[in-house]
Amino acid sequence: MVCNPTVAVTVYNPATEEPIAKLPEAGVDEADAAVARARAAFPAWRAVAPADRARLLRRLATLVEEHAEELALLETRNVGKPIADSRGEVGMVADVFHFYSGAVDKHHGETIPVGGGIDLTFREPLGVVGLIVPWNFPLNIASWKLGPALACGNTVVLKPAELTPLTAVLLGELALEAGIPEGVINVVVGPGRVVGQRLAEHPAVAKIGFTGSTEVGRGVMQAAAGTIKRVTLELGGKSANVVFADADLERAAAAAPYAVFGNAGQDCCARSRILVERSAYDRFVSLLVDATAGVRVGDPEDDATEMGPLISAAQRESVSSFVDGNVVFRGEAPDGKGFWFPCTLVEASNEDRVAREEVFGPVAAVIPFEDEPDAIRIANDTPYGLSGSIWTENGARALRVARALETGVLSVNANTSVRVSTPFGGFKQSGFGRELGMQALEGYSEVKNVFVATD
Ligand code: NDP
Repeated sequence: MVCNPTVAVTVYNPATEEPIAKLPEAGVDEADAAVARARAAFPAWRAVAPADRARLLRRLATLVEEHAEELALLETRNVGKPIADSRGEVGMVADVFHFYSGAVDKHHGETIPVGGGIDLTFREPLGVVGLIVPWNFPLNIASWKLGPALACGNTVVLKPAELTPLTAVLLGELALEAGIPEGVINVVVGPGRVVGQRLAEHPAVAKIGFTGSTEVGRGVMQAAAGTIKRVTLELGGKSANVVFADADLERAAAAAPYAVFGNAGQDCCARSRILVERSAYDRFVSLLVDATAGVRVGDPEDDATEMGPLISAAQRESVSSFVDGNVVFRGEAPDGKGFWFPCTLVEASNEDRVAREEVFGPVAAVIPFEDEPDAIRIANDTPYGLSGSIWTENGARALRVARALETGVLSVNANTSVRVSTPFGGFKQSGFGRELGMQALEGYSEVKNVFVATD
């Protein structure tokens, strides 16, 4: 870790509001030093034989598995997410490193038939890449970027969110223990507007992989423009959960709360607009209220907990501002210390602020629609396009609507958006570029074309 020992960042547990760690805070000089270290490490790292690079990533995956409980508890204490969720996320982090370990020698160039010689393409690493990560899935999102970046032979500067840096620091230590050389991964804990901004502007950084809000993403893109950096942006969402009257309503209603109240709604994939066909509306809303009442809110360290607190007091204040009438259901939340907010269902029109802006908290807008064209119109009437679900028993309709929705990731009769081996990313103002799967490797490499004359 690179840091300025004179300034400290205090990290809190959002469930207790107690400080849990103090770390030195980096500034511009430390960001520059991290880039210099990553630059120095690049020539040797890109030259590591693919099988050896794969072995190092596999060793890191194994170390994550061996330290799974420690990482999960740290994530739970820092983010306030239920321990069962943290365990699942750490499992995914290990799977991500296993996947990209296997991908190292499977992402390669090709030979192209041409006249007068042989044409070859090579996949080249970019150099130093800056990875900027938000606070809602700190370790998971870091791994989605680190896996493909390292597999392609890049060196990295990883900037976690200042609110949640702890698992990134531990992951950096595990990478060293795995044998990944010093300087290949540099973790820099410092404010986004200083360290993140510097990485986006830095002439020696070839690419920024950013996940965060659309507003900050726009600024990163502008800062990166100065040096024509490559940019991948994974930004906000306002996804629709579209429930047709011909769906299995019990299943759809049982799943819907977990598509929006997971991670206390602080999820870019949250299906926070629940669109319901008018003819099934009353029955579905009644089932949805019952299912939402069953979400277990409480101590994140309890195995049975399904929803913890929000990340901060500021986030709670922001979320509260979205609830101003037409509340269909408001759940229970603990009293006392902690940034708690109850599961809340609000009846809304798609024009209301709660349906237009990303809440990033446990508040869902329930919106009726008339028929299939109306559902598509409402679902697409948003500047975002990240995720979504379609619930119907009609297979042709499922495919028809899936093709019509302007969104990067969709699930039919399920909540799932994210898998290690499948591409993830947004349409419209939810960003561009894809993470996960083999597609992520495209964003961390350049194609070089070489013609060899043989005539
Ligand atoms: P922010 O956009 O505020 O922050 C994201 C990251 O960017 C943090 O590391 C932050 O650092 C850093 N940052 C802040 N300002 C700058 C800057 N000027 N230049 C460079 N970096 C900067 O988002 P949040 O952390 O509040 O995360 C929530 C948002 O992220 C939501 O809108 C959500 O939708 C989105 N998100 C998107 C995902 C996706 O895959 N599409 C996944 C997860 C979240 P610091 O916090 O230390 O200041």
